[in-house]
Amino acid sequence: MSKALDPTGRVALPPQLHVFVRDWLSSNNILLKSPDGHVLIDSGYGRHAPMTLQLLASARGLGDDPLSFLVNTHCHSDHVGGNAAVARKYECPIAVPAAEAPLVECWDGRLLLYEYCDHRIERFVADRALPAHSTHVWGDLEWLALAAPGHDMGALVFYNAEHRILISGDALWQHGFGFVMPPEVDPAALPATQATLEMLAKLDVRIVIPGHGEPFTDIAAALERAAKRVDAFKADSQRVARHALKVNLMFALLDKQRMLLVELPSYLARVDIYREFNDLFFKLPPARLAELLVGELVKAGAARVDSGTLLPATGEAG
Ligand SMILES: [Zn+2]
Repeated sequence: MSKALDPTGRVALPPQLHVFVRDWLSSNNILLKSPDGHVLIDSGYGRHAPMTLQLLASARGLGDDPLSFLVNTHCHSDHVGGNAAVARKYECPIAVPAAEAPLVECWDGRLLLYEYCDHRIERFVADRALPAHSTHVWGDLEWLALAAPGHDMGALVFYNAEHRILISGDALWQHGFGFVMPPEVDPAALPATQATLEMLAKLDVRIVIPGHGEPFTDIAAALERAAKRVDAFKADSQRVARHALKVNLMFALLDKQRMLLVELPSYLARVDIYREFNDLFFKLPPARLAELLVGELVKAGAARVDSGTLLPATGEAG
């Protein structure tokens, strides 16, 4: 058994580092504990904020301790959705990547995707801006913030050289990375995704703590899978667009828990990302686009249709 795994087969982390593995609607919450003050990285989705607060207050979390600081890898709703609730309870400052601080300040619903993709989120105030290449001591460990543009052009990842741990947000998962804008929408996104993966490949990493899914150790295999996806995306921007819409519709479904098929065409015509991508790439009547996306989600085993209603394949998850 690799030393990177504990006796239960889980990735062994330094004792002051706790990962609450969540789901696809809420990002993982990473708690870095220290007598100097506890730090939380990412707060999940707004609708799951009660669960986030419950996990934080648990014995494995903070118990009755205060939280000193909340940091975000990037400002998408599944990572910052609990910010307002956490700040209200713990009265702690919030730090966001420096590249995103102006967007948070003016609450740019398009660039932060809240309006653009129909994500629901309670507005919060960013107290600090974290620049790329800054270092921070959280949980008695030194973390280097590195720019990781692509899925989100302002995203940061955090790297601890001592334990060779990478907190990767949505820049790298075990199987893929967060959806990317097609070149016709943002010409910089796909090249940035590739450059970020190449940057990550140069780091000496033993453990990756992703934004979604369990921590994992085989970063080389994850990078190879991610590179293959980038190559496929570069060859076919309609595929990039289809992937982004599929992921966003699944996210909306996890948020709403049920969507009536009869209402789906008007939803796709109303929400910007679907309407704009349809105009650019698919040029389909909304009902036909709805059929296509629903078909793909069902085929992938992510969703099911029952009595005219689209449902997540699995029930509600924390
Ligand atoms: Zn995410």
